[in-house]
Amino acid sequence: MATFLFDEIIFGPVISRRLGVSLGINLLPVDSKVCSFDCIYCECGRNPRNKKTGSRLPRREEVRNRLEEVLKELGSKNRTPDVITFAGNGEPTLHPQFPAIIDDTLELRNGYAPKARIAVLSNATMLHRPAVFEALLKVDDNIQKLDSAIEDTIRAMDCPAPGFQLHKTVGQLQKFEGKVTIQTMFIQAEFQGKSIDNTTSSEIEAWIGLLKEIKPAVVMIYTIARDTPIESIKKIPASQLNEIAKKVKAAGFEVQVSG
Ligand code: SF4
Repeated sequence: MATFLFDEIIFGPVISRRLGVSLGINLLPVDSKVCSFDCIYCECGRNPRNKKTGSRLPRREEVRNRLEEVLKELGSKNRTPDVITFAGNGEPTLHPQFPAIIDDTLELRNGYAPKARIAVLSNATMLHRPAVFEALLKVDDNIQKLDSAIEDTIRAMDCPAPGFQLHKTVGQLQKFEGKVTIQTMFIQAEFQGKSIDNTTSSEIEAWIGLLKEIKPAVVMIYTIARDTPIESIKKIPASQLNEIAKKVKAAGFEVQVSG
């Protein structure tokens, strides 16, 4: 199915089903995906087998200059976004200047769009880097992925790069001491001869168990909304997401559902 890449450093504003009117920041190349996961549901497609020649990450100065231009322009049209979101063609925290770019973004937000929140959508694989961890503590919405409490399911759904260990990720998420939102994508799929389903009772029970260890401020649950690279992926009906949400609420968490 057709997936897509963001062809700019700053994109939008777009209406995000989870965040509102969102101005996006893409810290990855504009012509290639770069991620430490290779999720089978990724809207940017699967990771390229070979690195594209000429692809490069935007420099800190480019991001800052372009963001300032766009915020000025939107402000002059009274179209200031609700949120400035780090997302784009892969994992934003892989950018070596991510912490400095967060500082620039906070400064520009405070100057041009003081009411806008700053959100980072991340897969939690770079939390071992102290500067990344500290930068994430500075943003309004620190949104980290945890698709399952069962490592085999994460390996099947998210296809992490070598070195991934769920218990380490959970330990790092706990260190946020609640200043974190957990995002979980729910799907059912057949992939490479395996059935994948992170909505079963045993999956949900184990995942809520991990939420209790991590103690996030908010839990975001959602399912696929656009084309995915693997055709067999099934969207989870809203009624089923709402049932999962009830269990999350009963465990004492604030929950947001995007069907
Ligand atoms: S973590 Fe995000 S960007 Fe990376 S493969 Fe998964 S969905 Fe795509």
